[in-house]
Amino acid sequence: MLFSAPSMGCRTMTYPIARIHSVETFGTLDGPGIRYVIFFQGCPLRCLYCHNRDTWDTGGGRSITLPDLVADIRKYQDFYLASGGGVTASGGEPALQATFIQELFSQCREIGLHTALDTSGYTGVGPLKDLLLVTDLVLLDIKHMHSDKHRQLTGVGNQRTLELAQYLSRQGIPLWVRYILIPGYTDDPGAIIKLAEFLTKLDSLQKVLILPYHTMGVYKWEEFGLRNPLSHVSPPPPEAVVKVKQILAGSNLPVE
Ligand code: SF4
Repeated sequence: MLFSAPSMGCRTMTYPIARIHSVETFGTLDGPGIRYVIFFQGCPLRCLYCHNRDTWDTGGGRSITLPDLVADIRKYQDFYLASGGGVTASGGEPALQATFIQELFSQCREIGLHTALDTSGYTGVGPLKDLLLVTDLVLLDIKHMHSDKHRQLTGVGNQRTLELAQYLSRQGIPLWVRYILIPGYTDDPGAIIKLAEFLTKLDSLQKVLILPYHTMGVYKWEEFGLRNPLSHVSPPPPEAVVKVKQILAGSNLPVE
């Protein structure tokens, strides 16, 4: 998307513009080091457990130009550079605004900042190819290994997500995979074993993060006058998380 703004003299400057939900200036979870995390607005998935329900609507959030966003990142850049951190594009689904992020990441790299893309992989490889040329790390959510269960959980199948993981591996692009453990939905041992089998074939895989399902975003559903479909589900007990990690570690996967 482009945004025109008056400039000095009679010329008009044209800037790329994005729709974002919010930013976090001191993120420590979405990639290495300290990070500036941008939560892009809009998501094509409908995850039952979504804790960012307010990012779904592509027309929601607020607009920001690329120069304004880069100027804000630059205010904190010394923290990011000193910690080996950088910038993470998250969401929502950032891949919906891949062209903007490609330009953002190019400018971040010129400053020396590490770049990370946090995605569900739903758009598939095609729209991401150019963006991946300036991406240092992909954080990929694999939500379920069985496509029919993935569809029940998110509204879409998992084929493009798995294909993206394989593409990243072939291209040697570093990859962290995240898997949310939801009792009764993603914790069956057959799915975990299938996940392990899939992940062991990914050469660029650096980390597997098993994240226990939590209910912290439920209030956002209530703000929309909606009932969270998983409001009856409790977080998994610590021993269940340990068991899943043991299965993956048994396949020599870098699990955390
Ligand atoms: S992909 Fe993320 S933002 Fe989109 S519905 Fe799923 S959990 Fe929510």
